[in-house]
Amino acid sequence: MLRSYTRSVAMSKKLLLALLAVTALATAAPRKPKLVLAIVVDQFRYDYLTRFRGDYVSGLDTLLKMGAVFTSASLEHFPTVTALGHSAFLTGATPSESGIVGNEWYAREEHRTVTSVSDPQTTLLGAEGEGSSPHRLLVDTVGDELKIANGQKTRIIGISLKDRAAILPAGHMANGAYWFDNDSGRFVSSTYYFEELPSWVKDFNQSRPADKFAGATWLTRTMPADPKQLYPALAASPFGNELIEAFAERALQAEQLGTREFPDILAISFSSNDYVGHQVGPDAPEVREMSVRTDKLLGQLFQAVDRQVGLANVLVVLTADHGVAPVPEVNMGRKMPGGRIPSATFTNAVERALNNRYGEDMWVLSSAEGNLYLDQSLIAEKKLDPAEVEQVAARALMAVPHVFRVYTRQQLLAGNAFDPVGHRVLNGFYARRSADLEVLLEPFWLFSENGTSHGTPFGYDTHIPLIFMGAGIRAGVYTRPVALNDVAPTLAAILEIEPPAGSVGRVLPEIFNP
Ligand SMILES: [Zn+2]
Repeated sequence: MLRSYTRSVAMSKKLLLALLAVTALATAAPRKPKLVLAIVVDQFRYDYLTRFRGDYVSGLDTLLKMGAVFTSASLEHFPTVTALGHSAFLTGATPSESGIVGNEWYAREEHRTVTSVSDPQTTLLGAEGEGSSPHRLLVDTVGDELKIANGQKTRIIGISLKDRAAILPAGHMANGAYWFDNDSGRFVSSTYYFEELPSWVKDFNQSRPADKFAGATWLTRTMPADPKQLYPALAASPFGNELIEAFAERALQAEQLGTREFPDILAISFSSNDYVGHQVGPDAPEVREMSVRTDKLLGQLFQAVDRQVGLANVLVVLTADHGVAPVPEVNMGRKMPGGRIPSATFTNAVERALNNRYGEDMWVLSSAEGNLYLDQSLIAEKKLDPAEVEQVAARALMAVPHVFRVYTRQQLLAGNAFDPVGHRVLNGFYARRSADLEVLLEPFWLFSENGTSHGTPFGYDTHIPLIFMGAGIRAGVYTRPVALNDVAPTLAAILEIEPPAGSVGRVLPEIFNP
């Protein structure tokens, strides 16, 4: 009796092991990491990986050699700006679900322009002013789902120079999000997360980490000596990213990330690439220099993570929130299309057309970069048909040379937008917050009056790097088209948690190591 019992236990153990092996093969579920290092490089085109490949010897080199590298990853929303990329990253949602439709938008119910994270209910910690929070983000993140699954035993931290880039990937239940305050030269947070800054953050700030860059040089540039000028200047220099990396290392250590039973998430967004890129454009030597320095900083970060957690226990995912257009003048110089049209052109065109048709009034409440908000109460007061008013405005906008498309609210509400461009515009439309008219310029044309920008549905803005590396990931080059939205459900599958509520992405099982 006893013998057969023992034997059957031994048998069932064997079976169980065999079953586990089969299940592992069948589902190809990768090993769970102890730490997810979720990295965004702000304004990093996919081709920065290939054009500067020979210069990469550190972090990016490791990612390209050891990682699962997607060569055809893109953004599936419009406009391709920072808040949208950062919210899609770990929610898997499009703006049509996340509600994050811009870096800023005109909030009709508040009668003012708000940012994606501005929150008058909170105050800054570490400096003076109104705080920020994820309260406008309608969906949750991978970190939120991880918290729900593990009952708070997991730690989620977001870090960047920009508030939106720290807050949106980290999510609602994050332990903290930290960003840089240009006035004080300190890392700050808000009362949304805690009553006061953790002591390690206070200690970090106490050492006045930004001051050491006074007078520092890179390429032909010298940083100002006066702190008042130095702090805001750091963002558009490699030193902004160095501050982020130093702060991230401190967070890693102080919060003991990746050392406990449940996985943690450290979400880092390197902002300086974006500030420099806006000034000089993708073809300038400064952008190459920023990319090379990013490679070195990532290497430094990986070493710190390796010391504490062991890289084999870490899942790294690296991407970008958007690319960038060439500087129009540079493009024209090489016989390519491009040019500039100031935003005011469009406001004027709409005001003129509506004044002519319906009488003099203030028709446009707000407009920026081709997003025009009409005064809907005025339209109602005058008993006009909104669809007709929008049509009149749209015709006037289409008459402006180099306008590519105009989408109206009624058209988008009806889902009347096809082809890849229309699909991205629809994905970016959330009726309560979006504009009444969306103006798209022809490829390579910009609203901005100097430097360059991003925001379009075209390849130079939508084609981004996407690399997974580490725990359970099969290295290789993957050429099938994927979306930024695929990151969240893929991480959720690896972490064995629910995908976030608004996720529309697909799991990428080909990268799982059985
Ligand atoms: Zn950005």
